[in-house]
Amino acid sequence: MAQLTFYGAVAGVTGSMYLLQTDHSNLLLDCGLFQGRREEEEANLKPLPFAVSSLDAVVLSHAHLDHSGRLPLLVAEGYSGPIYMTKPSGDLIEVLLKDAASLQERDVEWENKRLRRAGKPEVEPLYRAEDVQETLKLCQGLNYQQRISITEDVEVRFLDAGHILGSAIVELYISERGVEKKLVFSGDLGNSQAALLRDPEAVQSADVLLLESTYGDRDHRSMEDTLQEFEDVILEASENGGNILIPSFAVGRTQEIIFRLGELYQQGKLHQQAIFLDSPMAIAVTEIYHRYQNIYNAEDKAAIETASLTASAKERSLHTFLPILRYSISTDESMALNKVERGAIIIAGSGMCNGGRIRHHLKHNLWRKQSHVIFVGFQAMGTPGRALVDGARYFKIAGEEVIVKAAIHTLGGFSAHASQTQLIEWLGHFEGEKPRLFLVHGEENAKQALATVATTHGWRPHIAGLGEKVKF
Ligand SMILES: [Zn+2]
Ligand SMILES: [Zn+2]
Repeated sequence: MAQLTFYGAVAGVTGSMYLLQTDHSNLLLDCGLFQGRREEEEANLKPLPFAVSSLDAVVLSHAHLDHSGRLPLLVAEGYSGPIYMTKPSGDLIEVLLKDAASLQERDVEWENKRLRRAGKPEVEPLYRAEDVQETLKLCQGLNYQQRISITEDVEVRFLDAGHILGSAIVELYISERGVEKKLVFSGDLGNSQAALLRDPEAVQSADVLLLESTYGDRDHRSMEDTLQEFEDVILEASENGGNILIPSFAVGRTQEIIFRLGELYQQGKLHQQAIFLDSPMAIAVTEIYHRYQNIYNAEDKAAIETASLTASAKERSLHTFLPILRYSISTDESMALNKVERGAIIIAGSGMCNGGRIRHHLKHNLWRKQSHVIFVGFQAMGTPGRALVDGARYFKIAGEEVIVKAAIHTLGGFSAHASQTQLIEWLGHFEGEKPRLFLVHGEENAKQALATVATTHGWRPHIAGLGEKVKF
Protein backbone atom coordinates (compact mmCIF):
# COMPACT_ATOMS: atom_id res chain seq x y z
CA MET A 1 0.00 0.00 0.00
CA ALA A 2 1.11 3.53 -0.71
CA GLN A 3 0.22 6.34 1.65
CA LEU A 4 -0.02 10.05 0.98
CA THR A 5 -0.06 12.68 3.76
CA PHE A 6 -1.20 16.26 3.21
CA TYR A 7 1.19 18.61 5.00
CA GLY A 8 0.54 21.94 3.31
CA ALA A 9 -1.50 23.98 0.82
CA VAL A 10 -4.49 22.48 2.61
CA ALA A 11 -5.93 25.43 4.51
CA GLY A 12 -5.18 28.06 1.88
CA VAL A 13 -2.77 28.10 -1.03
CA THR A 14 0.69 28.25 0.54
CA GLY A 15 3.11 25.78 2.12
CA SER A 16 2.56 23.11 -0.56
CA MET A 17 3.99 19.81 0.76
CA TYR A 18 2.93 16.16 0.50
CA LEU A 19 4.65 13.01 1.73
CA LEU A 20 4.35 9.80 -0.28
CA GLN A 21 5.33 6.56 1.46
CA THR A 22 5.48 3.36 -0.54
CA ASP A 23 6.63 -0.15 0.40
CA HIS A 24 10.23 0.78 -0.32
CA SER A 25 10.59 4.54 -0.36
CA ASN A 26 9.66 7.89 1.12
CA LEU A 27 9.25 10.81 -1.19
CA LEU A 28 8.42 14.46 -0.61
CA LEU A 29 6.33 16.32 -3.18
CA ASP A 30 6.99 20.08 -2.98
CA CYS A 31 8.46 21.81 0.05
CA GLY A 32 6.87 25.24 0.04
CA LEU A 33 6.86 28.19 2.38
CA PHE A 34 3.77 29.33 4.19
CA GLN A 35 3.25 32.93 3.12
CA GLY A 36 0.83 35.63 4.15
CA ARG A 37 0.02 36.92 7.59
CA ARG A 38 2.55 36.67 10.41
CA GLU A 39 0.60 33.85 12.13
CA GLU A 40 0.59 31.84 8.90
CA GLU A 41 4.31 32.41 8.35
CA GLU A 42 5.08 31.20 11.86
CA ALA A 43 4.20 27.71 10.61
CA ASN A 44 7.55 27.79 8.75
CA LEU A 45 9.39 27.79 12.08
CA LYS A 46 7.78 24.55 13.26
CA PRO A 47 9.87 21.39 12.88
CA LEU A 48 9.13 19.42 9.70
CA PRO A 49 6.42 16.83 10.48
CA PHE A 50 8.45 13.78 9.37
CA ALA A 51 11.94 12.37 9.81
CA VAL A 52 14.13 14.14 7.24
CA SER A 53 16.59 11.24 7.34
CA SER A 54 13.89 8.86 6.07
CA LEU A 55 13.44 10.71 2.74
CA ASP A 56 14.78 9.10 -0.43
CA ALA A 57 13.87 11.81 -2.93
CA VAL A 58 12.17 15.18 -3.31
CA VAL A 59 10.11 16.20 -6.34
CA LEU A 60 9.29 19.84 -7.06
CA SER A 61 6.34 20.95 -9.21
CA HIS A 62 7.59 24.49 -9.86
CA ALA A 63 9.78 27.30 -8.62
CA HIS A 64 7.30 29.56 -6.78
CA LEU A 65 8.31 29.91 -3.12
CA ASP A 66 5.00 28.57 -1.81
CA HIS A 67 6.12 25.29 -3.43
CA SER A 68 9.93 25.47 -3.10
CA GLY A 69 10.72 27.91 -0.29
CA ARG A 70 11.36 25.41 2.51
CA LEU A 71 13.84 23.30 0.51
CA PRO A 72 16.87 25.02 2.11
CA LEU A 73 15.35 24.30 5.52
CA LEU A 74 15.08 20.64 4.60
CA VAL A 75 18.72 20.64 3.54
CA ALA A 76 19.78 22.54 6.67
CA GLU A 77 18.09 19.74 8.64
CA GLY A 78 20.25 17.15 6.94
CA TYR A 79 18.57 16.15 3.68
CA SER A 80 21.24 15.29 1.12
CA GLY A 81 19.38 13.25 -1.52
CA PRO A 82 18.28 14.32 -4.99
CA ILE A 83 15.69 17.07 -5.66
CA TYR A 84 14.01 16.51 -9.04
CA MET A 85 12.47 19.33 -11.07
CA THR A 86 12.36 20.57 -14.64
CA LYS A 87 15.48 22.32 -15.97
CA PRO A 88 13.91 25.82 -16.09
CA SER A 89 12.68 25.36 -12.50
CA GLY A 90 16.30 24.64 -11.52
CA ASP A 91 17.39 28.00 -12.98
CA LEU A 92 14.47 29.87 -11.45
CA ILE A 93 14.82 28.51 -7.91
CA GLU A 94 18.42 29.69 -7.85
CA VAL A 95 17.18 33.29 -8.26
CA LEU A 96 14.16 32.88 -5.99
CA LEU A 97 15.81 31.01 -3.11
CA LYS A 98 18.83 33.35 -3.03
CA ASP A 99 16.47 36.29 -2.84
CA ALA A 100 14.41 34.60 -0.11
CA ALA A 101 17.54 33.90 1.96
CA SER A 102 18.80 37.46 1.68
CA LEU A 103 15.40 38.86 2.66
CA GLN A 104 15.28 36.57 5.69
CA GLU A 105 18.83 37.48 6.70
CA ARG A 106 18.04 41.19 6.36
CA ASP A 107 14.80 40.92 8.37
CA VAL A 108 16.57 39.08 11.17
CA GLU A 109 19.42 41.60 11.24
CA TRP A 110 16.86 44.35 11.73
CA GLU A 111 14.98 42.36 14.38
CA ASN A 112 18.22 41.52 16.22
CA LYS A 113 19.22 45.19 16.49
CA ARG A 114 15.95 45.75 18.30
CA LEU A 115 16.38 42.64 20.48
CA ARG A 116 19.93 43.63 21.47
CA ARG A 117 18.75 47.07 22.53
CA ALA A 118 16.03 45.40 24.60
CA GLY A 119 18.57 43.03 26.18
CA LYS A 120 16.80 40.02 24.71
CA PRO A 121 18.34 36.96 23.01
CA GLU A 122 18.88 37.21 19.23
CA VAL A 123 17.02 35.13 16.64
CA GLU A 124 18.29 33.15 13.64
CA PRO A 125 16.98 33.44 10.05
CA LEU A 126 14.94 30.51 8.71
CA TYR A 127 17.96 29.72 6.53
CA ARG A 128 20.98 31.43 5.06
CA ALA A 129 22.63 31.83 1.66
CA GLU A 130 24.91 28.84 2.46
CA ASP A 131 21.87 26.58 2.88
CA VAL A 132 20.63 27.71 -0.54
CA GLN A 133 24.03 26.86 -2.07
CA GLU A 134 23.84 23.35 -0.60
CA THR A 135 20.26 22.97 -1.87
CA LEU A 136 21.20 23.96 -5.41
CA LYS A 137 23.89 21.23 -5.46
CA LEU A 138 21.17 18.59 -4.97
CA CYS A 139 18.91 19.77 -7.80
CA GLN A 140 18.52 17.59 -10.86
CA GLY A 141 16.84 19.07 -13.91
CA LEU A 142 14.70 16.81 -16.10
CA ASN A 143 13.01 17.45 -19.45
CA TYR A 144 9.26 17.40 -19.82
CA GLN A 145 7.96 13.94 -20.82
CA GLN A 146 11.14 12.20 -19.63
CA ARG A 147 10.11 9.28 -17.43
CA ILE A 148 12.80 8.18 -15.02
CA SER A 149 13.17 6.01 -11.99
CA ILE A 150 13.87 8.05 -8.84
CA THR A 151 13.62 5.47 -6.06
CA GLU A 152 13.49 1.69 -5.91
CA ASP A 153 9.75 1.63 -6.71
CA VAL A 154 8.82 5.09 -8.01
CA GLU A 155 9.21 6.70 -11.43
CA VAL A 156 8.48 10.34 -12.20
CA ARG A 157 7.37 12.21 -15.32
CA PHE A 158 6.82 15.97 -15.67
CA LEU A 159 4.21 17.41 -18.03
CA ASP A 160 3.92 21.12 -18.84
CA ALA A 161 1.49 22.84 -16.44
CA GLY A 162 1.69 26.18 -18.32
CA HIS A 163 1.67 28.21 -15.09
CA ILE A 164 5.16 29.75 -15.00
CA LEU A 165 8.26 28.76 -16.96
CA GLY A 166 9.20 25.21 -16.02
CA SER A 167 6.01 24.51 -14.08
CA ALA A 168 4.99 20.87 -14.08
CA ILE A 169 2.15 18.50 -13.57
CA VAL A 170 3.82 15.67 -11.66
CA GLU A 171 3.09 12.04 -12.49
CA LEU A 172 4.40 9.47 -10.02
CA TYR A 173 4.30 5.80 -11.07
CA ILE A 174 4.49 3.46 -8.11
CA SER A 175 5.21 -0.21 -8.70
CA GLU A 176 3.91 -2.55 -6.06
CA ARG A 177 4.50 -6.28 -6.54
CA GLY A 178 3.98 -6.14 -10.27
CA VAL A 179 1.05 -3.69 -10.13
CA GLU A 180 1.46 -0.07 -11.17
CA LYS A 181 -0.34 2.77 -9.38
CA LYS A 182 -0.33 6.33 -10.57
CA LEU A 183 -0.48 9.49 -8.50
CA VAL A 184 -0.98 12.74 -10.41
CA PHE A 185 -0.38 16.14 -8.82
CA SER A 186 -1.64 18.99 -10.99
CA GLY A 187 0.84 21.44 -9.45
CA ASP A 188 -0.41 24.94 -10.23
CA LEU A 189 -2.25 24.79 -13.56
CA GLY A 190 -1.82 27.71 -15.93
CA ASN A 191 -4.39 29.96 -17.54
CA SER A 192 -4.67 28.95 -21.19
CA GLN A 193 -5.26 32.62 -22.13
CA ALA A 194 -1.87 33.70 -20.77
CA ALA A 195 1.03 34.62 -23.07
CA LEU A 196 4.26 32.73 -23.82
CA LEU A 197 3.49 29.47 -22.07
CA ARG A 198 1.70 26.46 -23.49
CA ASP A 199 -1.68 25.22 -22.26
CA PRO A 200 -1.57 22.71 -19.39
CA GLU A 201 -1.04 19.24 -20.84
CA ALA A 202 -3.89 16.77 -20.69
CA VAL A 203 -3.70 13.71 -18.46
CA GLN A 204 -5.93 10.72 -19.20
CA SER A 205 -5.48 8.45 -16.23
CA ALA A 206 -4.58 8.25 -12.54
CA ASP A 207 -5.50 6.35 -9.41
CA VAL A 208 -5.17 9.38 -7.17
CA LEU A 209 -5.35 12.98 -8.35
CA LEU A 210 -4.46 16.14 -6.42
CA LEU A 211 -5.94 19.19 -8.08
CA GLU A 212 -5.19 22.83 -7.27
CA SER A 213 -8.26 25.01 -6.72
CA THR A 214 -6.92 28.60 -6.51
CA TYR A 215 -9.65 29.89 -8.84
CA GLY A 216 -12.09 27.08 -8.14
CA ASP A 217 -14.90 29.57 -7.54
CA ARG A 218 -14.54 31.94 -10.50
CA ASP A 219 -13.67 32.61 -14.08
CA HIS A 220 -11.30 35.31 -15.29
CA ARG A 221 -12.36 38.40 -17.12
CA SER A 222 -11.84 37.73 -20.83
CA MET A 223 -8.31 38.28 -22.12
CA GLU A 224 -9.69 40.25 -25.07
CA ASP A 225 -11.34 42.81 -22.77
CA THR A 226 -8.28 42.97 -20.56
CA LEU A 227 -5.95 43.62 -23.49
CA GLN A 228 -8.30 46.26 -24.89
CA GLU A 229 -8.30 48.07 -21.55
CA PHE A 230 -4.51 47.80 -21.36
CA GLU A 231 -4.23 49.33 -24.83
CA ASP A 232 -6.66 52.15 -23.94
CA VAL A 233 -4.77 53.13 -20.79
CA ILE A 234 -1.46 53.15 -22.64
CA LEU A 235 -2.90 55.36 -25.37
CA GLU A 236 -4.45 57.73 -22.84
CA ALA A 237 -1.12 58.04 -21.02
CA SER A 238 0.78 58.78 -24.22
CA GLU A 239 -1.75 61.50 -25.10
CA ASN A 240 -1.62 63.25 -21.75
CA GLY A 241 2.11 62.80 -21.47
CA GLY A 242 2.51 60.99 -18.17
CA ASN A 243 4.55 58.01 -17.13
CA ILE A 244 3.01 54.62 -16.55
CA LEU A 245 4.05 52.54 -13.55
CA ILE A 246 3.34 48.82 -13.55
CA PRO A 247 3.98 47.10 -10.20
CA SER A 248 4.72 43.52 -11.11
CA PHE A 249 5.93 40.19 -9.77
CA ALA A 250 9.31 39.12 -11.12
CA VAL A 251 8.32 35.67 -12.30
CA GLY A 252 5.77 35.22 -15.05
CA ARG A 253 3.63 38.34 -14.91
CA THR A 254 6.53 40.64 -15.85
CA GLN A 255 7.41 38.55 -18.90
CA GLU A 256 3.76 38.37 -19.93
CA ILE A 257 3.43 42.18 -19.69
CA ILE A 258 6.61 42.64 -21.74
CA PHE A 259 5.16 40.31 -24.40
CA ARG A 260 1.82 42.20 -24.43
CA LEU A 261 3.67 45.53 -24.76
CA GLY A 262 5.64 43.92 -27.60
CA GLU A 263 2.40 43.05 -29.39
CA LEU A 264 1.26 46.69 -29.14
CA TYR A 265 4.67 47.87 -30.35
CA GLN A 266 4.53 45.53 -33.34
CA GLN A 267 1.04 46.84 -34.21
CA GLY A 268 2.33 50.44 -34.08
CA LYS A 269 0.12 51.20 -31.08
CA LEU A 270 2.81 51.97 -28.53
CA HIS A 271 3.93 55.61 -28.61
CA GLN A 272 5.98 55.66 -25.44
CA GLN A 273 9.71 56.22 -25.95
CA ALA A 274 11.05 53.64 -23.55
CA ILE A 275 10.08 50.80 -21.29
CA PHE A 276 12.24 50.26 -18.25
CA LEU A 277 12.39 46.96 -16.45
CA ASP A 278 13.63 48.23 -13.11
CA SER A 279 14.19 45.11 -11.03
CA PRO A 280 17.41 43.06 -10.91
CA MET A 281 15.39 39.97 -10.04
CA ALA A 282 12.85 40.38 -12.84
CA ILE A 283 15.75 40.97 -15.25
CA ALA A 284 17.45 37.75 -14.14
CA VAL A 285 14.16 35.86 -14.57
CA THR A 286 13.52 37.41 -18.02
CA GLU A 287 16.98 36.20 -19.09
CA ILE A 288 16.03 32.68 -17.94
CA TYR A 289 12.81 32.91 -20.01
CA HIS A 290 15.00 33.78 -23.04
CA ARG A 291 17.02 30.63 -22.52
CA TYR A 292 13.91 28.46 -22.85
CA GLN A 293 12.09 30.11 -25.75
CA ASN A 294 11.78 26.69 -27.37
CA ILE A 295 9.09 25.79 -24.83
CA TYR A 296 6.93 28.88 -25.47
CA ASN A 297 3.59 28.20 -27.16
CA ALA A 298 3.73 28.00 -30.96
CA GLU A 299 1.70 31.14 -31.65
CA ASP A 300 3.73 33.50 -29.46
CA LYS A 301 7.00 31.91 -30.59
CA ALA A 302 5.97 32.60 -34.21
CA ALA A 303 5.03 36.21 -33.37
CA ILE A 304 8.48 36.80 -31.86
CA GLU A 305 10.17 35.15 -34.87
CA THR A 306 8.21 37.16 -37.44
CA ALA A 307 9.01 40.41 -35.66
CA SER A 308 12.68 39.55 -35.32
CA LEU A 309 13.48 38.53 -38.90
CA THR A 310 16.69 40.53 -39.05
CA ALA A 311 17.95 38.95 -35.86
CA SER A 312 19.69 35.61 -35.85
CA ALA A 313 17.79 32.72 -34.29
CA LYS A 314 19.97 33.09 -31.20
CA GLU A 315 19.28 36.80 -30.79
CA ARG A 316 15.49 36.51 -31.11
CA SER A 317 13.87 37.31 -27.82
CA LEU A 318 11.49 39.62 -26.04
CA HIS A 319 14.14 42.31 -26.78
CA THR A 320 13.83 42.01 -30.54
CA PHE A 321 10.04 41.84 -30.14
CA LEU A 322 10.03 44.98 -27.99
CA PRO A 323 13.18 46.91 -28.99
CA ILE A 324 12.45 49.86 -26.67
CA LEU A 325 12.81 47.63 -23.61
CA ARG A 326 15.67 48.76 -21.33
CA TYR A 327 17.05 47.07 -18.26
CA SER A 328 17.93 49.21 -15.28
CA ILE A 329 20.14 47.15 -13.07
CA SER A 330 22.06 49.46 -10.71
CA THR A 331 20.50 51.70 -8.07
CA ASP A 332 21.90 54.72 -9.97
CA GLU A 333 20.10 53.64 -13.13
CA SER A 334 16.92 53.23 -11.12
CA MET A 335 17.30 56.65 -9.47
CA ALA A 336 17.93 58.27 -12.87
CA LEU A 337 14.36 57.33 -13.81
CA ASN A 338 13.11 59.83 -11.21
CA LYS A 339 14.04 62.58 -13.66
CA VAL A 340 11.92 61.11 -16.46
CA GLU A 341 8.63 63.01 -16.39
CA ARG A 342 6.89 61.69 -19.46
CA GLY A 343 6.73 58.97 -22.06
CA ALA A 344 8.10 56.09 -19.98
CA ILE A 345 6.64 52.83 -18.84
CA ILE A 346 8.34 51.56 -15.69
CA ILE A 347 7.87 47.95 -14.62
CA ALA A 348 9.18 47.28 -11.11
CA GLY A 349 8.55 45.16 -8.03
CA SER A 350 7.19 44.39 -5.68
CA GLY A 351 3.88 43.46 -7.18
CA MET A 352 1.89 44.68 -4.16
CA CYS A 353 4.11 47.76 -3.53
CA ASN A 354 5.18 46.62 -0.05
CA GLY A 355 8.87 46.80 -0.98
CA GLY A 356 11.23 47.16 -3.89
CA ARG A 357 11.98 49.92 -6.35
CA ILE A 358 8.35 50.54 -7.31
CA ARG A 359 8.04 52.53 -4.09
CA HIS A 360 10.37 55.33 -5.11
CA HIS A 361 8.70 55.51 -8.53
CA LEU A 362 5.34 55.85 -6.78
CA LYS A 363 6.79 58.66 -4.66
CA HIS A 364 7.95 60.55 -7.76
CA ASN A 365 4.85 59.96 -9.89
CA LEU A 366 1.73 59.53 -7.76
CA TRP A 367 1.34 63.27 -7.04
CA ARG A 368 1.21 64.13 -10.75
CA LYS A 369 -2.24 63.92 -12.31
CA GLN A 370 -0.86 62.88 -15.71
CA SER A 371 0.72 59.71 -14.24
CA HIS A 372 -0.88 56.29 -14.48
CA VAL A 373 -0.45 53.20 -12.34
CA ILE A 374 -1.63 49.90 -13.79
CA PHE A 375 -2.13 47.00 -11.40
CA VAL A 376 -1.85 43.73 -13.28
CA GLY A 377 -1.89 41.30 -10.37
CA PHE A 378 -3.77 40.35 -7.24
CA GLN A 379 -3.47 42.88 -4.34
CA ALA A 380 -3.80 41.27 -0.91
CA MET A 381 -5.66 43.01 1.92
CA GLY A 382 -3.44 45.26 3.98
CA THR A 383 -0.85 45.92 1.25
CA PRO A 384 -0.07 49.43 -0.09
CA GLY A 385 -1.11 48.20 -3.53
CA ARG A 386 -4.53 47.26 -2.23
CA ALA A 387 -4.88 50.70 -0.57
CA LEU A 388 -4.18 52.42 -3.91
CA VAL A 389 -6.64 50.16 -5.73
CA ASP A 390 -9.25 50.97 -3.06
CA GLY A 391 -8.80 54.70 -3.66
CA ALA A 392 -6.37 55.87 -0.94
CA ARG A 393 -5.84 59.63 -1.20
CA TYR A 394 -2.34 59.59 0.27
CA PHE A 395 0.54 57.15 -0.07
CA LYS A 396 2.96 56.88 2.82
CA ILE A 397 6.61 56.27 2.00
CA ALA A 398 9.57 56.67 4.37
CA GLY A 399 7.60 58.90 6.72
CA GLU A 400 6.43 61.14 3.87
CA GLU A 401 2.87 61.44 2.64
CA VAL A 402 2.45 61.74 -1.11
CA ILE A 403 -0.90 62.86 -2.49
CA VAL A 404 -2.44 60.48 -5.02
CA LYS A 405 -3.43 62.38 -8.15
CA ALA A 406 -2.37 59.73 -10.66
CA ALA A 407 -4.98 57.59 -12.41
CA ILE A 408 -5.07 54.12 -10.85
CA HIS A 409 -6.14 51.23 -13.08
CA THR A 410 -6.76 47.62 -12.17
CA LEU A 411 -6.68 44.99 -14.88
CA GLY A 412 -8.25 41.87 -13.50
CA GLY A 413 -7.84 39.52 -16.45
CA PHE A 414 -4.18 38.55 -16.14
CA SER A 415 -3.82 35.40 -14.12
CA ALA A 416 -1.33 32.57 -14.00
CA HIS A 417 -3.94 30.10 -12.75
CA ALA A 418 -6.62 28.12 -14.55
CA SER A 419 -10.13 29.45 -13.99
CA GLN A 420 -12.99 27.28 -12.72
CA THR A 421 -14.07 26.50 -16.30
CA GLN A 422 -10.49 25.66 -17.30
CA LEU A 423 -10.03 23.37 -14.27
CA ILE A 424 -13.20 21.48 -15.16
CA GLU A 425 -12.07 21.26 -18.80
CA TRP A 426 -8.74 19.83 -17.68
CA LEU A 427 -10.55 17.21 -15.58
CA GLY A 428 -12.54 16.35 -18.71
CA HIS A 429 -9.45 14.77 -20.31
CA PHE A 430 -9.53 11.81 -17.90
CA GLU A 431 -10.91 8.69 -19.52
CA GLY A 432 -12.53 5.56 -18.12
CA GLU A 433 -12.77 5.10 -14.39
CA LYS A 434 -12.24 8.41 -12.62
CA PRO A 435 -9.38 8.73 -10.13
CA ARG A 436 -9.93 9.57 -6.46
CA LEU A 437 -9.90 13.36 -6.52
CA PHE A 438 -8.47 15.52 -3.74
CA LEU A 439 -8.81 19.29 -3.92
CA VAL A 440 -5.85 21.25 -2.56
CA HIS A 441 -4.22 24.71 -2.90
CA GLY A 442 -7.26 26.94 -2.53
CA GLU A 443 -9.24 28.97 -0.05
CA GLU A 444 -12.16 27.10 1.51
CA ASN A 445 -14.88 28.73 -0.62
CA ALA A 446 -12.88 28.13 -3.82
CA LYS A 447 -12.55 24.42 -2.99
CA GLN A 448 -16.23 24.11 -2.03
CA ALA A 449 -17.35 25.76 -5.26
CA LEU A 450 -15.06 23.60 -7.37
CA ALA A 451 -16.23 20.47 -5.53
CA THR A 452 -19.85 21.34 -6.34
CA VAL A 453 -19.17 21.81 -10.05
CA ALA A 454 -16.90 18.75 -10.28
CA THR A 455 -19.68 16.67 -8.70
CA THR A 456 -22.07 17.66 -11.48
CA HIS A 457 -19.46 16.28 -13.91
CA GLY A 458 -19.48 12.88 -12.24
CA TRP A 459 -16.52 13.34 -9.87
CA ARG A 460 -16.52 12.56 -6.15
CA PRO A 461 -14.13 15.24 -4.89
CA HIS A 462 -12.74 15.26 -1.39
CA ILE A 463 -11.33 18.33 0.35
CA ALA A 464 -8.22 17.19 2.17
CA GLY A 465 -7.47 18.27 5.73
CA LEU A 466 -4.08 19.10 7.26
CA GLY A 467 -2.22 15.94 8.23
CA GLU A 468 -4.84 13.74 6.57
CA LYS A 469 -3.56 10.39 5.28
CA VAL A 470 -4.81 8.55 2.23
CA LYS A 471 -3.97 4.94 1.44
CA PHE A 472 -4.14 3.62 -2.10
ZN1 LIG B 1 2.65 28.83 -8.53
ZN1 LIG C 1 1.01 27.75 -5.79
